[in-house]
Amino acid sequence: RGAFSPEMARRDVPILHRLVNGRPLVWLDNGATTQKPRQVIEAVAAFYGSANSNIHRGAHSMARDATALYEAGRAAVADFLGAPSPEEIVFVRGTTEAINLVAQTWGRANVGPGDDILVPVLEHHSDIVPWQQLAAETHARVVPVPLLPDGQIDQFAYADLLSSRTRLVAVSHASNVLGTVPPVAEMTALAHRYGAKVLVDGAQAVAHFPVDVQALDADFYAFSGHKLFAPTGIGALYAKPELLASMAPWQGGGNMIESVSFDRTTFAPAPHLFEAGTGHISGVVGLLAALDWLSSFDHEAVAAYETQLLAYAQQALAAVPGLRVLGEAPDRIGVLAFTLAGHDSTAVAQALDLEGVAVRSGHHCAQPALAHYGLDSAVRASLALYNTPEEVDQLAASLLRIQQS
Ligand code: PMP
Repeated sequence: RGAFSPEMARRDVPILHRLVNGRPLVWLDNGATTQKPRQVIEAVAAFYGSANSNIHRGAHSMARDATALYEAGRAAVADFLGAPSPEEIVFVRGTTEAINLVAQTWGRANVGPGDDILVPVLEHHSDIVPWQQLAAETHARVVPVPLLPDGQIDQFAYADLLSSRTRLVAVSHASNVLGTVPPVAEMTALAHRYGAKVLVDGAQAVAHFPVDVQALDADFYAFSGHKLFAPTGIGALYAKPELLASMAPWQGGGNMIESVSFDRTTFAPAPHLFEAGTGHISGVVGLLAALDWLSSFDHEAVAAYETQLLAYAQQALAAVPGLRVLGEAPDRIGVLAFTLAGHDSTAVAQALDLEGVAVRSGHHCAQPALAHYGLDSAVRASLALYNTPEEVDQLAASLLRIQQS
């Protein structure tokens, strides 16, 4: 592992050097998606330029090479998540698809009338709605776990809500709106005491700190490649092997079968059982390149830098009159949702855009979390390893100008 500086990372990411509205781009919308290093862009281009083939099928050498790349991607994801084996990694379109897969396979078989699914108020809609759909189908209940004012999950309420009726706890490893990093390992241990399973939504976590699904003892862990410097349309679901082995197939089609006849169809084992149809092969190639790129940096140096940059950003925003940051839990990643007194969130984001600063405004697919603060919209600046203190200064200076306008 090499050294790390944000400049090293920036040199690799071409889009960070473009102008927006005549001003150098300041990309602070990493919570929505991250920008791609040239290593990822070039790996995808090289795949299509000289190695494109479908996988698994066919005996020719290009199919074999593409299959090897695809499976190398699976092994790299297993390694990245601390999973014991690549067999426990299912490729999906992203976090949303991973959660829907679990809801519709494991959920349909294991959740029934009167059962509870515990979901913190903090969750992204994609970790709420699939459970509501499952609950409607199975006559179960989705039970919200309340938040404390600082944006942490109320652990006393959580402990109270757990019961022998709890089948599943679905919790984000880091919040996309408040940045909160809940004590997932502790929450999981507690859920397991009641025999409940735990799904961890890692969409926001994976780009910011190392994940170890075994240390968490997570039953399911989901993430999206595009929030991890990889292409859109590819993500992964980790599941414990005994769960994967017990789950019925989801979508049917090619790749997920062993043999098909009109009398009887037999299925391939996991993970292929859950990967019907042609997968996003170039996406896996890009994801593999993104994981390689990340692992070229010293992890601890990256984490230390991100912590420092977050503290710097908190200070800079605190100096803007009328600016209120939502939730300031002590354990958090660099996601800062805020409001500016007297200014509409969309107008703030648009004014920032005119100065080249890209942030998101709106409900951030977390309406219950915003409602907790009596809001239906906020501005969100979300940091990544390639952001700099100078960019934070520019955000703060632009906000001051907007505030005074
Ligand atoms: N969960 C969280 C915490 C997220 O931030 C996001 C993306 N904003 C998702 C789930 C959904 O991810 P995707 O749209 O890539 O499926």
